[in-house]
Amino acid sequence: MRILHINKFNYLHGGAEHYMHELMAHQTAMGHDVHVFATRHPKNFSTPDQKYFVERFDLDRREGLIRDLFKAKNYVWNGEARLSLAHMLQDLRPDMIHMHNAYNHLSSSILTSIRLSRIPCVQTLHDYKLASANYALFAHGEVCEHGKQGKYWEIVKHRCIQGRLDASLLGAFEMWMTKTRKSYERTVKLFLCPSQFMQRKMEEWGEPADQLRYVPNPTYFPEQSAPRGGGYALYAGRLSPEKGLEGFIHAASRVPELPIKIAGRGPEEEKLKNLAHALRAHHISFLGFIEPEKMKDVRDRAEAVVLPTLSYENASGALLEAMAAGIPCLATRTGGNPELVEDQKSGLLTPPGDEQAWEMTLRKFAQTTQEERTKMGEAGRKKIHANHLWFDHLERVQECYEEARSTSHPQKNKIDSPAESRAGMR
Ligand SMILES: [Zn+2]
Repeated sequence: MRILHINKFNYLHGGAEHYMHELMAHQTAMGHDVHVFATRHPKNFSTPDQKYFVERFDLDRREGLIRDLFKAKNYVWNGEARLSLAHMLQDLRPDMIHMHNAYNHLSSSILTSIRLSRIPCVQTLHDYKLASANYALFAHGEVCEHGKQGKYWEIVKHRCIQGRLDASLLGAFEMWMTKTRKSYERTVKLFLCPSQFMQRKMEEWGEPADQLRYVPNPTYFPEQSAPRGGGYALYAGRLSPEKGLEGFIHAASRVPELPIKIAGRGPEEEKLKNLAHALRAHHISFLGFIEPEKMKDVRDRAEAVVLPTLSYENASGALLEAMAAGIPCLATRTGGNPELVEDQKSGLLTPPGDEQAWEMTLRKFAQTTQEERTKMGEAGRKKIHANHLWFDHLERVQECYEEARSTSHPQKNKIDSPAESRAGMR
């Protein structure tokens, strides 16, 4: 099968890109002819497909009025992306299109090219952007569901995107435009949800239930459990507000019997370091950025992996990897976390943003014996083995491809409206 993956970036930017490249490698090994469409960037993996790639805009930086207006126009409708993808589809004629995060950089313009090509398309939902302009459903320091049921003005009113009026206006407008036209819903046959929580949330936000499929995220399964024995609990990830580290550090500072290591960087790094220092929490240390190979050693010696996230985690890679390695997980009861970590079994769950509960959780874990920790780790490994192996995942993805190829288009009568055919031929 010839498969075209579409994602805004073609380098390992975040979780979505890690997943896409692993999936592409597996599919290539299975004998599929795998291609990719993305934006140009110096860090990109080199590929013959890059001749079709389009300009990447820096959407987080002000670059003068004319340039900013040009970027805003491309955020809503990227003409270069639409044309370039149309050429690529004509040249390549893939059997299947698998979209990931195309939003903002490639824009919904590419959906026109996909519809006109009549090639079946599925999309993995790596975040909540399909339904919400605020892709993380997190803003102003808390879970944010403004903009639900088409109330896009709420996004503007509360400045839910980057806390800025211009970004919120643009995001709300783009959402109104794609939702009134049902751009994604009538282009993508199946939306693959990495967690049941994502599937439920999408339904709740009005996405068509018959187009949502639960496809649990996979992870590698090491032959043996990690040795642990380092005596510390580990947080590894971005140091940003939605991760809930501020409250976590307050709680952890009162449990010196459980040393904490925090790996990663992010906008809150200085603030969190200063906080730990002010609390005289010498048992909390910051490791900064760690290379993946070394990270594995640090994680494998951890007694537990912690994830104090306040936002709706989708299917956390940190939890999946820790569970596969047989390491107990201490996480917040939010988003897809409780689908992975079973409270008192493979780890401990704590209500999000509850400092006192975190203090109790950490104290409770510090008192567990090595035997109990091994038991928790084994329960986690068992769960991963049953539901999250790459082998099963690839089969599930393939089933979705077959289903997308065999079913008629969800809203077929709307595909080739004369106006759209004209737009496609322009
Ligand atoms: Zn909000």
